[in-house]
Amino acid sequence: MIKYSVVVPLYNEELVIAETYKRLTAVMQTADGDYELVFVNDGSRDKTENMAKEITQHDPHVKLINFSRNFGHQTAITAGMDLSSGQAVVVIDADLQDPPEVILQMIEKWKAGYDVVYGKRLVRKGETFFKKVTAKMFYRFLSSMTNIDIPVDTGDFRLLDRKVIDSMRTLTEKNRYVRGLVSWVGFKQTAVEYVREERFAGETKYPLKKMLKFAGDAVTSFSYKPLKLAGYMGYTISFLSFIYLIYVVIRKLAVGDFDAGWASTVAISLFFNGIILIVLGIMGEYVGRIYDECKNRPLYIISEKVGFDENPDTKATE
Ligand code: UDP
Ligand code: MG
Repeated sequence: MIKYSVVVPLYNEELVIAETYKRLTAVMQTADGDYELVFVNDGSRDKTENMAKEITQHDPHVKLINFSRNFGHQTAITAGMDLSSGQAVVVIDADLQDPPEVILQMIEKWKAGYDVVYGKRLVRKGETFFKKVTAKMFYRFLSSMTNIDIPVDTGDFRLLDRKVIDSMRTLTEKNRYVRGLVSWVGFKQTAVEYVREERFAGETKYPLKKMLKFAGDAVTSFSYKPLKLAGYMGYTISFLSFIYLIYVVIRKLAVGDFDAGWASTVAISLFFNGIILIVLGIMGEYVGRIYDECKNRPLYIISEKVGFDENPDTKATE
């Protein structure tokens, strides 16, 4: 019999967890197989943990992974994928922005032979203008930066075949951009279009700071282009400076004057120092991530697992 896994990352989701559980259960009961809901509590500080535990107590379909602290959304879904045991694994946000009903359409496509079925957002409701515009720009910027084909306007709401999950588990990199990794591993991929709803309750757990980290991980995971930027700017500026130098010499010889130019010297100096610092910053982004890889710390620490049977087959890379 087919078994489906649904991975749900939870960070301070006490206001939505009960409803999410209800909606997911209603949908998965109409699916043509067994299912498990894998809740990953990413170090919530509210009642999420207790509420999730309570659910596991009366529903054997529900499993809970408790992180020892907040490791971040991408790490939470990685852990859920690592410990899931279904032949098809769906990743879905806890806040019901991704309608659970779409899972059934994903399953149809999976049965038609696709290994990855990602949700493509047609409309995003109830999100700020700023978030929508920056998200749109970001996905296009990212695709211009990278050589692998990461579909635009898709989130982590997707169905993955067991083959894909197993391949993903061989990728041990630390600052993960999961949807990029899914594109990287390949396999037969297709989309299901859906309307992204408003958050059911509570507020976004992705403040600007986390969004920037997320964007940084996405770019540095899949592109060297920012590093090359320094070189390009260096060549261009050297070339222009050289032309300028020739101009100054000729002018001195021909006309015999030159500008005093204290202000312009300072301006130019500040400008180039700015560029140098930016370039150093970009390098720092990469060096820091290289450092993270070298330390080789585990991706996450689990403080407790509830509802899993001790099957060595599904042991994660803890
Ligand atoms: N999330 C998480 N850890 C975090 C931040 C978010 O597990 O550090 C979860 C959150 O509980 C939700 C999902 O990731 O299930 C997406 O977060 P959210 O809906 O706040 O992001 P948005 O939809 O606003 O981008
Ligand atoms: Mg959301």
